[in-house]
Amino acid sequence: MGRLDNKVALISGGARGMGAVEARLFAGEGARVVIGDVLEDEGRKTEAEINETGGECLFLNLDVTSESSWDQAVAATVARFGKLDILVNNAGIFRTQGVEETSEDLWEQVMEINAKGVFLGTKQAIPEIRKAGGGSIINISSVAGLTGGARSAAYRASKGAVRLFTKSTAIQYAKEGIRANSVHPGIIDTPMTAPNLMADEDSRNTSASRHPLGRVGQAEDVAYGVLFLASDESSFMTGSELVIDGGLTAQ
Ligand code: NAP
Repeated sequence: MGRLDNKVALISGGARGMGAVEARLFAGEGARVVIGDVLEDEGRKTEAEINETGGECLFLNLDVTSESSWDQAVAATVARFGKLDILVNNAGIFRTQGVEETSEDLWEQVMEINAKGVFLGTKQAIPEIRKAGGGSIINISSVAGLTGGARSAAYRASKGAVRLFTKSTAIQYAKEGIRANSVHPGIIDTPMTAPNLMADEDSRNTSASRHPLGRVGQAEDVAYGVLFLASDESSFMTGSELVIDGGLTAQ
């Protein structure tokens, strides 16, 4: 028995990083999984790996900033697997600039992908999740959506938006059995942080030391939390925030 038997999940930004680890974990727990990403080669690779190891996975080209792209992705998910139960809004980009260093273009790019992308995915997925009789939406925010900082102004604003958009979704759709929760990872070792927070030994040590547990997170640390929120084990959770940060925001 898998924890996601008979469920169909769509994971944005699932070609690599945390989304790809979640896709593998979900498939191993019995879900049929669609990964949508702008990275075609890496997406096809993840799709093949999952299908070769006994899972069921479909890769789709998805640009989360485009409503028609979401519309097509949701339709293709239902065409292939018959329904949609779980949406993981995971796609995102990280930018480190502070307030005065942030150009208007940079602000718009970050908000388009990280905040508008979550809105559009939620909007397009809800009619199908409703048809499935309810389901679970998991929005990947960040510790940067909980606390301020001297850098990453646009990123923090976008992740803060995800936090409250999630609660609004949760309240609006609770009566229909559609749950929505946000996830707030600390620094995680993925391709996103490889060129910045994990770029060299000094950066890696600084990043690790920010977490009371003395290390950065691995994608699996977050994926297990996302799995819990996707499964019926979390059926009494909605509008909540799952913080997976090695104690970073407890200080
Ligand atoms: P990642 O390895 O960069 O994976 C994110 C994926 O989303 C990439 O494949 C990326 O492609 C894709 N993407 C970007 N723009 C897209 C778009 N418009 N449409 C569809 N896909 C798009 O990052 P990750 O570390 O796994 O992060 C996953 C999520 O966790 C993000 O929302 C991130 O903000 C959040 N998060 C990460 C950390 C961390 O420390 N890693 C901490 C807290 C929260 P490109 O390469 O083209 O950008």
